[in-house]
Amino acid sequence: MRIDVLTLFPEMCEGVFSTSILGKARDKGIVSLNAVNFRDFSGNKHNTVDDTPYGGGGGMVLKPDPIFAAVEHVLETVNGGESLLEQRAAEAAPAKPRIILMCPQGQTYNQQIAEELAKEEHLIFICGHYEGYDERIREHLVTDELSIGDYVLTGGELPALTVIDSVVRLQPGALGNETSAITDSFSTGLLEYPHYTRPAEFRGWKVPDILLSGHHANIDVWRREQALQRTLERRPDLLETANLTAKDKQALQRLRDKNEQV
Ligand code: SAM
Repeated sequence: MRIDVLTLFPEMCEGVFSTSILGKARDKGIVSLNAVNFRDFSGNKHNTVDDTPYGGGGGMVLKPDPIFAAVEHVLETVNGGESLLEQRAAEAAPAKPRIILMCPQGQTYNQQIAEELAKEEHLIFICGHYEGYDERIREHLVTDELSIGDYVLTGGELPALTVIDSVVRLQPGALGNETSAITDSFSTGLLEYPHYTRPAEFRGWKVPDILLSGHHANIDVWRREQALQRTLERRPDLLETANLTAKDKQALQRLRDKNEQV
């Protein structure tokens, strides 16, 4: 997988790209992570990438030309010099990258989108700053708009890095044995069950007996019930779409009945 991030602050991305699981995935060749400063594509001698909005009003707007030029540069690098227009016109074109605009007005990001993006060969992220983007970037360049939640940050780097981290950890081989994405919250449609480690008793608080029993089938049943209970308590909305077995539904009913009695 290849990921390019168009940003005015490549140093923000490099720190994350070279650390921990992302750094290891990059070293192992699982993913190529590149920060591209779109100021390098301003095309003017003052390296300006923003301008005042037509129609007046406060704030600066990111100009379309540097962003289009930076995306085209990345695509030409990948596809041996073919222009964006040629690639979009070509029938047997190589897999088309997703060009993702980070913005608070986009689709709200979640694990399902992470799993979808993790299957792509090439992702290009555009990180904004200032008041906004020239609308022609939205209309004629990007394939997706993503928001990481209903709040506004100063720039798109942290949102893009959030998405990238969650996508890279889903790549085969990216996580070591010490971590697993399979039972993570949301991957199963539920929140994850609680974890314990040594000591078996800490300040008088004991680890549940079942986890010390060595009986793996019973432990699996307990963990599933704990995941159901936790989801019922904290995110009951997830239960509406989770893939539940008949046993899960019975366990949920028991949990609901118990809650009503309390
Ligand atoms: N004026 C814009 C609006 O009201 O939609 C907000 C611009 S914000 C100050 C600057 C940049 O930060 C955005 O272009 C985007 O790249 C990024 N950003 C801020 N909040 C975000 C969020 N919740 N999700 C994704 N990107 C965000």
